[in-house]
Amino acid sequence: MSRNSEFEMERGVAQILNSYGARNVFDFGQLGLTMQTNPWGRVEEIDDVDRERVAKIIQSRIGRYRNRTTADEWENISADDIDLYRPLKIEGRLFPLVFYCENKSCRKVHTATEPGYLPSNGQCRACGESITQLPFVNVCTCGRLEDASPNRGCSQHGFDDIRLNKRASEPAMWRYECNKCGDTVDVLSSSCGVCNGMQGPLPTASSRIFYSEKAVEVDIPYIGDQAEDIPKDESWAHVLMAAHLGLADLESNTIENLATTEGMVDKYQKWVNRLGEEDAQEMFDDMDQDVHGRETLVAETEHITPPDTEGDVEEGTRALAYSNIAHQLFTFQRSTNGYEGDMDDLKDTRHPIPKSLSHFLQDSDFRERHPQSGRYRPQLTASHIRQAWIVDQFPLLNILYGYTRADSQSNKVDLRSFPHPRERATTPIFADRTPSEAIIFEIDRTAIINWLEANNVITAEQRPDTSDEAALKEWFLNNIATTELDNPFTPIEHDITRWVYRLLHSLSHCLLARAGEQCGLATSSLSERIFPVIPAIAVYAASTENFALGSMFTLFKTRLHPWVSDARDLADQCLIDATCRENPAGAACDACLHIEETSCEAINHHLDRRIVRSKSDIVGFWDEGISNGIPDDISQL
Ligand SMILES: [Zn+2]
Ligand SMILES: [Zn+2]
Ligand SMILES: [Zn+2]
Ligand SMILES: [Zn+2]
Ligand SMILES: [Zn+2]
Repeated sequence: MSRNSEFEMERGVAQILNSYGARNVFDFGQLGLTMQTNPWGRVEEIDDVDRERVAKIIQSRIGRYRNRTTADEWENISADDIDLYRPLKIEGRLFPLVFYCENKSCRKVHTATEPGYLPSNGQCRACGESITQLPFVNVCTCGRLEDASPNRGCSQHGFDDIRLNKRASEPAMWRYECNKCGDTVDVLSSSCGVCNGMQGPLPTASSRIFYSEKAVEVDIPYIGDQAEDIPKDESWAHVLMAAHLGLADLESNTIENLATTEGMVDKYQKWVNRLGEEDAQEMFDDMDQDVHGRETLVAETEHITPPDTEGDVEEGTRALAYSNIAHQLFTFQRSTNGYEGDMDDLKDTRHPIPKSLSHFLQDSDFRERHPQSGRYRPQLTASHIRQAWIVDQFPLLNILYGYTRADSQSNKVDLRSFPHPRERATTPIFADRTPSEAIIFEIDRTAIINWLEANNVITAEQRPDTSDEAALKEWFLNNIATTELDNPFTPIEHDITRWVYRLLHSLSHCLLARAGEQCGLATSSLSERIFPVIPAIAVYAASTENFALGSMFTLFKTRLHPWVSDARDLADQCLIDATCRENPAGAACDACLHIEETSCEAINHHLDRRIVRSKSDIVGFWDEGISNGIPDDISQL
């Protein structure tokens, strides 16, 4: 065995993030030794990620943890409190440091003095036979990790000659004994002075030793030289609203440009007042005058005020609401329309490349090669799905913000941050961008309005004009309180938001839970993102580590019909339906809608099959009576 036991390993960044968080314990196969991951010293700083957004994601998750000993660090964490790094290399060092002699009649305990060195060169000091690592540890729900070495020596002889008595097969029964007087001095378990939550001895291979706490966000980088000048306030949301409603000219401008150009709001307003919107616009066009920019687009959408931005709502909530809306709109815009500017400007940034279902269906070659595709549109229309896209290079940001130990349920443990690779006082967050594949479904707005009215969530007077596409889009922007969705543990108080989110989320789970069978991917490797202000759903491959690139494309092009059909069956029934359907919290259980918590954006909360397929006094979204506004002629989509 080598004297020096510090090791470096080359691994992909995705794998490092997933399996080798600093302070994790892992087997170092070649040497038969167990190691602990060092703080990640080899890192590179990530500066092109929106830190405000990352801080918000972490904030929205803190409530999940017990955090008895760590609340101070996490509460009120802001963009200034975090540093973002990409880990490049992992280093491990020997752990646990306790060894014992393999000779049954000896069993002398040896402790390595330094993590870098094996004790006595791997041989027993008493009998000369090989020594072996004691692969057990103790972990506490507060995040503490200790090896199983004796905490105290013999009252007379200290640590002079300690032996391990493996008197039973169960390591919890093993004893440390003093070889000089025969006294039992200690056991393998230990206790945590702070919280009494210590568990052990656990084998070092136990999954309970380390849980990496991760989040995934869709993160589309801004393009262009002015990208960093994009305002971080509500004006950015208003520019995106204008783009969404078709008020912004994206033929000759990019969204980033519009947001960073002031615009001639006075001039614009003057002529609109004089000539009316349409004529004024025509005049500007004739004069080849581009008056549009941030200020004009804000003026045109200022009347849109989501419920959590109005009245005496806290300034922080207001800002968060606009930030959420901006994020949903920008993600949806770029993931379904692609980049509207010059493709050369994209350089090597990974920007989403979408193709709509209509694009494929209007291609006669495609229809010939996939005759089953003739059933796609009727199936989607019957399911109130207005449009669908397959998106290549759907950009994900994987974030690793901390770790927990001893229990997989976050409300029983404390979230610990990683040691800082540069030893600063901030909290280090590790992240990496990975391109993925997504399928996006836009749900028909008219159908949702009809369904809300059928369930008396809105009155006939509260209905927008469903024949006016812009008015419909505006209605969703105006009636969804996105900030109520940030913490999945808190109930959604706002009625329309609750109904719409639960609907989209349940639809998403019907699709997610049945996607695996159709595309050959494990459901656990898929994930979802709900965009209630659009309203739309994205189903994406969550990890690029183990998934065959192209699976989502195959699913979209060849299996769309059976997939949606299976999703509809799932909404209809559950194996334990008598029990499942009666659950007052929502008809959803492990036999139907529940998926792995890491795949769900709301840890399996806010789900209910009854609002999709009723069989009760609720009107289900997929029930016969609900009609939609999807045109028969797909060229109009
Ligand atoms: Zn020995
Ligand atoms: Zn503890
Ligand atoms: Zn003794
Ligand atoms: Zn069920
Ligand atoms: Zn979910």
